[in-house]
Amino acid sequence: MKSIWVQNQDNLSNPEALLSGYLPGVDINSWLLAAKQSVPGHHPYSNYEVGAAALSKNGEYRFGTNVEDASFGGTICAERTSITRMVSEGLLGKDNPLIGIALNTEPRSVPCGHCFSLMLEFMPSQGNFVIVSGDSKTNRVQVLDISVLRTLIWSKDFLSST
Ligand SMILES: [Zn+2]
Repeated sequence: MKSIWVQNQDNLSNPEALLSGYLPGVDINSWLLAAKQSVPGHHPYSNYEVGAAALSKNGEYRFGTNVEDASFGGTICAERTSITRMVSEGLLGKDNPLIGIALNTEPRSVPCGHCFSLMLEFMPSQGNFVIVSGDSKTNRVQVLDISVLRTLIWSKDFLSST
């Protein structure tokens, strides 16, 4: 598994250099800023504020926030909000897959299983998938090899093999 955790705050002072090998041609700073701008959302029950920004291969992104409701089960995470926005606007497809998610939470977090499943639906079949997760105190960058995710979570490939 290719995975890089950067725990040094100094490394994020130049995120473009850090991520350029994984996301060539992408305006990294604007993408990260979009995740921060997407909060506050609607989280009266958990008080857990999450911002996300889904990113496509051609450099487009949309931000999203977590939206809770009193049924709890109907709650949608920020990651899925940002992905569904892109799908609704026709910004994700076979030729323009999802290549990354930026998260802004405090404390730092990772996507839940529901969100990983939806990410798999729109990820490219090969290549890196970048998750940038950070908060104001401990910014970290994680670069994941998506082939590992495909073996851990239900996907189109798994369903077609059964
Ligand atoms: Zn989630």
